[in-house]
Amino acid sequence: MTGTEVLGSEIIRVSRLSKIYDTGTQALLDVSFSANAGETLILLGSNGSGKSTLQKCLNGLVQPTSGSVNVLGTEVSSAGKKQLRALRRQVGMVHQRINLVRELSVLSNVIHGSLGWATSARNWFGATAKQEQRELAMDALDRVGLASVAARRAEQLSGGQQQRVAIARMLLQRPKIVLADEPVAALDPRAGRAVMDMLWQIAEEESLTLVCTLHQLELARAYGSRVIALRQGRLDLDTHMAEVRDSELAGLYTHEATEEEPVPAFQGVRP
Ligand code: ADP
Ligand code: MG
Repeated sequence: MTGTEVLGSEIIRVSRLSKIYDTGTQALLDVSFSANAGETLILLGSNGSGKSTLQKCLNGLVQPTSGSVNVLGTEVSSAGKKQLRALRRQVGMVHQRINLVRELSVLSNVIHGSLGWATSARNWFGATAKQEQRELAMDALDRVGLASVAARRAEQLSGGQQQRVAIARMLLQRPKIVLADEPVAALDPRAGRAVMDMLWQIAEEESLTLVCTLHQLELARAYGSRVIALRQGRLDLDTHMAEVRDSELAGLYTHEATEEEPVPAFQGVRP
């Protein structure tokens, strides 16, 4: 781990965070919690409870209506563009929808994901940098157990393998915090397990702080050391998984996991 933060020191602090979208939807209401470096958190809640909004507030993709969000010492809501870029480099994302370029090789997908890290295009196109990037990308693929399929086109891989490629791509960014937003919701249970195992193993090896939203209760039970639950935008639970009773969790789930995200609410500009 680089920088000033020490394992176990506070790395995320969310205080009285509220978010009301332009549409009038109250997505978050007075949410407070903090997390230490190296901690793994499961963020639970039914669709629409505010999980994605909370994660987007952590890297400045969503601007809070009120409250404060401090990540890696950066006050996110008042950070300038340069500060936000620096912060986002240290915050890796894993999404439910896996955005690989289907026609490109697995290796190219991983390398291209690291472009944001290169200090300049000239540096990137330099032969040495390129070789170095290839080696780093192969190392990352090796870590997710996919070095042997580096030359294949991304579209030839299974969903679970593609998600592992996306994790390798994210690793190249050398993040300190990983935000995984329903990373296994689109996968069958076995592939989902493999992806979760991988995320947890890597988080432990790299002392990453992991905030992972989940739908699947059984998975949350298997992996969640600490669990934070949202209900209609409010913090409903913040405890250790071992201390959570099934009856407490039951109310959080009004439906089964879906293959797709719900149709997003109106996002355009109102006339
Ligand atoms: P979750 O990830 O738990 O499903 P979200 O954070 O996506 O929850 O959504 C919380 C609430 O905010 C929902 O009612 C959703 O429809 C609404 N919402 C999410 N994104 C937007 C947006 N960009 N504009 C307006 N409403 C939104
Ligand atoms: Mg979501």
